[in-house]
Amino acid sequence: MLDVARVREDFPILGTQVHGCPLVYLDNSATTQVPECVLDRVAGHYRTSNANVHRGMHYLAHASTSALEGARRTVAAFAGAPSEDGVVFTRGTTDALNMVARGLAYLIQPGDRVVVSVMEHHSNYVPWQQLCAERGARFEVVGLDERGDVDLDELARVLDGGTTAAGGPAATADAAGNARGPVRVVALAGCSNVLGSVLPARRVADMAHAAGALFVLDGAQIMRHGVVDMQALGCDYLAFSGHKMMAGTGIGALVGTMGSLELLRPRDFGGEMVGEVTRERTTWDALPLRLEAGTPNYVGAVALAAACDYLNALGRNDVAAWEDELATHALERLRAIDGLHVLGNPRKRCGLVSFTVDGVHPLDLCTLVDARGVALRSGHNCAQPLLDLFGLTSVARLSPAFYNTREEIDYAAEQIECAVTMLRAAR
Ligand code: PLP
Repeated sequence: MLDVARVREDFPILGTQVHGCPLVYLDNSATTQVPECVLDRVAGHYRTSNANVHRGMHYLAHASTSALEGARRTVAAFAGAPSEDGVVFTRGTTDALNMVARGLAYLIQPGDRVVVSVMEHHSNYVPWQQLCAERGARFEVVGLDERGDVDLDELARVLDGGTTAAGGPAATADAAGNARGPVRVVALAGCSNVLGSVLPARRVADMAHAAGALFVLDGAQIMRHGVVDMQALGCDYLAFSGHKMMAGTGIGALVGTMGSLELLRPRDFGGEMVGEVTRERTTWDALPLRLEAGTPNYVGAVALAAACDYLNALGRNDVAAWEDELATHALERLRAIDGLHVLGNPRKRCGLVSFTVDGVHPLDLCTLVDARGVALRSGHNCAQPLLDLFGLTSVARLSPAFYNTREEIDYAAEQIECAVTMLRAAR
């Protein structure tokens, strides 16, 4: 069991006053706060070990490089990577997913298919959509079942050679003249950032592999929520962002099996990713440096490792259990509000609740509750295809993290109810 009062002491920002009210920060699906130990590790690196990595021969260059490579080992263990060389530091999830889509482009032939779901974040949708358009491949968008989970029956049909109702451009024949070519990639979110639906990732990985496809897991919303072991889940690629798991911005990772990373053609070219450069040609360095062109965000990597250490020390299952309890409590409180509709009813929900309220615009609602210190998110949450499906352009989202309390959820629910009453009265 987490000692939440103690945990809150790790996050001084939670003591902020907002418009004269205590901050109730419930926008953790967008970005989480950073604990003191991570801030200390960052400041400590700049104070004692700062130098460019993998280049210089001097003392600080060694210290900085060894901190970066130590961070890689920590992140590899945290994500269940088969090898520390299977961790590529990126700017975040978006960067990692684009790296995979760009890196696999050369393998995608006309008529091939790439499968996503309608609830993907734009980061796991647009890169594949663009790739398919460029390569004459078919972009298959699997729908949802009645609960708001990825429709696994539809996925099975697509993997078996069928197609989706909401597919992309008409199928192009593949080299053998088949109207629908093989599925090359299945790319899905571990948890929807709008519906909170948790993907049965292992099952989907097995389905993808049985069809000969690579499985890409967008881990942005799941990494701080329990133990996420990419090998146990059967991922070929796992992408995630540090700022959604207490590490701060500008860092994330692409974690892969060595075989799947070997498949990627480098997207970025420059310093340190090369073996030999001559006027005529360039050879590549070994993994993972081949995919980390230029000076990497080594201090970000140190921060990410510090956040992994922090979550491990708290107990990742305890973190997930408390976040689940808070989400369940939020669900009960919100559902009791007249005219409020929660989006989706997934079989397994991960730490967030999106909703609409009859006659109330989410933006107005979130502005009013902010005046009482409550931070929620409003908008399309970078999931326009999903909102289109619901006939919406905007939703409100409440997303707790393990440092939130039941009392904060109660307070937020009361403020939402007050705001709804005020907005209705003003109509
Ligand atoms: N995928 C999901 C499910 C997300 O929720 C997000 C961010 O909210 C992303 C991808 C993109 O993450 P980032 O903006 O850190 O690259």
